[in-house]
Amino acid sequence: MRYQGYTGKYLEVDLTTGRIETRPVEDKLAETYLGANGFGTRLLWERVGPEVDPLSPENIIVFATGPLNGTLMPNSGRMEVITKSPLTGIYGDSNAGGFLGPELKFAGVDFVVFSGRAAAPVYLRIEDGRAELRDARHLWGKDTFETEELIQKELRDPGIKVACIGPAGENLVRYACIQATMSRSFGRVGGGAVMGSKNLKALAVRGFGPVRIADPEKFYEVATRSHFGIRGNDIYPAVSRYGTPGIVSIMNGIGRFPTKNFQLGGYDQADKINAEALREQYFVKDVACYGCPVACDKIYRVDEGPYAGTEVRSFEYETLGGYGASILNPRLDSIIKAGDLCDRLGLDVISVSRAISFAMELYDRGILKKEAFDGLNPVWGNIEDALELTRRIAYKQGIGALLSQGVRRAAAEIGHGADHYAMEVKGQEIASQDGRAQQSMGLAHVTSSRGADHLKGFPTIDETGYPTEARRRYGEQYLPDMADPRSTKFKGFLIKDGEDYAAVVDAVGTCKSGGNFVLAQLYWDDVAGAVRYATGMELDADGLKVIGERIVNLQRAYNALHGISRKDDRLPKRLLTEPNYQSTKEGSVCRLEEMLPEYYNLRGWDAENGLPTVARLRQLALDDVVERLGPKLKP
Ligand code: SF4
Repeated sequence: MRYQGYTGKYLEVDLTTGRIETRPVEDKLAETYLGANGFGTRLLWERVGPEVDPLSPENIIVFATGPLNGTLMPNSGRMEVITKSPLTGIYGDSNAGGFLGPELKFAGVDFVVFSGRAAAPVYLRIEDGRAELRDARHLWGKDTFETEELIQKELRDPGIKVACIGPAGENLVRYACIQATMSRSFGRVGGGAVMGSKNLKALAVRGFGPVRIADPEKFYEVATRSHFGIRGNDIYPAVSRYGTPGIVSIMNGIGRFPTKNFQLGGYDQADKINAEALREQYFVKDVACYGCPVACDKIYRVDEGPYAGTEVRSFEYETLGGYGASILNPRLDSIIKAGDLCDRLGLDVISVSRAISFAMELYDRGILKKEAFDGLNPVWGNIEDALELTRRIAYKQGIGALLSQGVRRAAAEIGHGADHYAMEVKGQEIASQDGRAQQSMGLAHVTSSRGADHLKGFPTIDETGYPTEARRRYGEQYLPDMADPRSTKFKGFLIKDGEDYAAVVDAVGTCKSGGNFVLAQLYWDDVAGAVRYATGMELDADGLKVIGERIVNLQRAYNALHGISRKDDRLPKRLLTEPNYQSTKEGSVCRLEEMLPEYYNLRGWDAENGLPTVARLRQLALDDVVERLGPKLKP
């Protein structure tokens, strides 16, 4: 390969035959898709058609890095897993930090593609470019923490980086995640279930090679400038001190903290589960992903009470929202327990907690009867039974089997109007991000390529009003509306730009929280400079924008292959019709239709079918997409 920053090699692993091939990464692939999610999107498009069941051997699952992983750029430890999602049936990707991404690069591999299904459980060991499939029968049934420890012991290397599934993945829970190096999760789209369907228990990686840089001097300049910029950012101290739990009070204050399964936008006991309470009672120490100056990650430990001895890492805002406000539970120690349980079982904390709050609401409304819960009493606030439901979901026991399919499928099976309480978009459960209190968030949920998601468009500029960032990034002409969470004006523009930029941030292997969105410090020029000097590619901010757009458009095209169109870009009725009175006195709903036309227009997508036009696809050099989607497209 002519570019630096990449290793130039990838592994093709056929689990059915056990064959492992090392193949070259083509220059053209790097030039057009950059890395990580870009590579994965292209591979899915080429290899996994609409006829493929996500849990069949024909699906693929790709572990992919980007050109900045393992370099001196700040927070360059994030990588992607890409697969066709068993939860949504469409495009799926998942991003996790930690150390796995850099380690894969050090081991001389840019990405790994798994296909087929092993006859018995296996795990893949990669060490400095050599790879082998190893027996994992003794690991099947173990939780994710046990699995990592056992592999490290077996290979006599405590430094080996492991990504693995727990019981939820083995049991094909549709939102099972992949736990990476204990503290990080590839969550959301059900990648853990895809691994389970392939009898693939884990990936274990060790490497000692270098990541070569095309222009070390200039790259060093960009990297150090970025580090200092992040550390000098106004909100760096707060993000570094509290991590994502730091937004609990802020979100609650603006009525954007979904409570009681989105019946309310604020929780009257939020002060018991906010970052200050967490830090005061349970904080142990800060931890950081590879090369990160922010260290938003923390270790928390419970020393007393029924959950004494529980310790969690990467404990996030979403766990506090999902197992706290969403089920009306103010006990912080029990939420820590829930976070630990989800990590060990390998469950996506957003989807599983949303499934539980959905079940609680159905029970409250008499749609689900007591008998359905096999002795449990799923009333609001009953955390003990919520924890037990979590276990039953992972093992698909009783009602756990129903809820393990995600709220959309569960609602369809339950009937009696249950779908009204299923808070999902395209089959993906909505995170603790209320689009009634922040209009752009509602739009982000419907346009995201993986179903309801706050991290694709990642609107932070208008969350609580960041006029300085809005001015710096976009100019004065968009203010004050751009920074007003309740305004719908310019939000199509904000989300389109956010999605394109996020696609690139993911593709290069850096963190959205660590400098690009939550700390909106770095932007197109910074990333373009880093990629240019790391790889030697002739690339500026405009070139990078085209790649971001190409990735987003190909993901939309992939979803279009699966029947997705304008009709699927919708929010649950509750967010459109039931006002959130914690956000505004008069009550606010999400005014989606005021934003969508602007978004489609800026994307160059047809406003009627919501799909890229032929002209737009050709501009992005996606001619093969035009051929394949054919009659679905407008000129
Ligand atoms: S900001 Fe947080 S999640 Fe991002 S790389 Fe740093 S420690 Fe990891």
